[in-house]
Amino acid sequence: MDAPLTQAICPERDALIERAEGLVRDTTLASVARWKQDRPGSKAIGFLPPYVPRELIHAAGALPVGILGGGDMEVVRGDAYFQSYICRLPRSTIELGLSGALDVVDGMLFPSICDVVRNLSGMWQILFPKSFVRYFDMPQNFEPEIGGRFFEHEMRSLLSDLGALTGRCVTDDDLRDSIAKFNVNRREVRALYRLRAEQPWQVPSSELYALVRAGNVLDVDDHTAMLRAYRATLDASPRRPKDMARVALRGCFCEQPPLELIKTLERSGCFIVDDDWVLSARWIDGDIATDGDPLWNLVLAFLERAMPCPSLYELRKERGEELVDGVRESKAEGVIFAAPSFCDPALLDQPMAMACAKAASIPATSFLYSENTGQFQVIREQAGTFADSIRLS
Ligand code: SF4
Repeated sequence: MDAPLTQAICPERDALIERAEGLVRDTTLASVARWKQDRPGSKAIGFLPPYVPRELIHAAGALPVGILGGGDMEVVRGDAYFQSYICRLPRSTIELGLSGALDVVDGMLFPSICDVVRNLSGMWQILFPKSFVRYFDMPQNFEPEIGGRFFEHEMRSLLSDLGALTGRCVTDDDLRDSIAKFNVNRREVRALYRLRAEQPWQVPSSELYALVRAGNVLDVDDHTAMLRAYRATLDASPRRPKDMARVALRGCFCEQPPLELIKTLERSGCFIVDDDWVLSARWIDGDIATDGDPLWNLVLAFLERAMPCPSLYELRKERGEELVDGVRESKAEGVIFAAPSFCDPALLDQPMAMACAKAASIPATSFLYSENTGQFQVIREQAGTFADSIRLS
């Protein structure tokens, strides 16, 4: 039987969620345009998942803007640039670019998540030759003197280019200030994640997802204030405990699931207590040091405390081990593998992760989605059956 979503009874919380969902759905990036209008001459830099150090963009005086595809927008021209048997995110991103929706950003960064995004980066340079475009390579070697030095060079070069674009000569103190602001922001995000794992009825995942995603298009201070205001509403107006199946969601680290999909999982009786969506918001576990060499601190944070992701070569643990650890930590009772259709990194990783889950006796199920999935009945039935099987076991 479908479980009702936790009902919000707090007007302040409703207003915050309405704002966050509005920001998530707005592919025209109106909030970014407003930010720039308020700061004549300022720049905004778009970046794709899973991660770029937003501190670099911020320190250069620009607004980091997470671009997570076009949602359910109609893709017409974007289809002409990619074969049909790849995920939707690059095609909708091209559509956004060609339709002018990304004119408000002054540059685009394409991190090394997969070959599709590497190709997209090349296409962007051809399609928008006057635009600031960088392919941002992340190390797959975690030795500080090898991968670390490489990453330091990549970041220094990006920082220099960003400074040339914005006209700011970025100092170490600028970078330290930016790191400090994002540390505060990550703390707030993690506090909500902790609370959700402890009391998932207090922080419905559909709300957490919208709130964290909203940070893609907001100034970091504005986003931190939004998260704090939300947390304050939980203290002032707590929700009643509920009992539903606790699940971890995996596979959503790049092309993002539609908001309605998260609501569907909740309605089907699942508390999502762990996930891997919007990873850029919590890519680094814990604070990044602000003393010493700030660029090297960013390097070490990446090498030592980056979130596990199928696109990263993982030395610290066996593939799938992090999943089992995450499940234990969040006290999840099962795993839902929800991968974007045709996403090679997610789908190549999935058999290993599923085998680890099976070996650890963790129930698991899987389905595919795309950012424009609009029919949820089958997923609702599947997730509902999965939730029931967990509750009855
Ligand atoms: S969804 Fe997967 S395949 Fe598509 S761009 Fe992202 S990582 Fe690459």
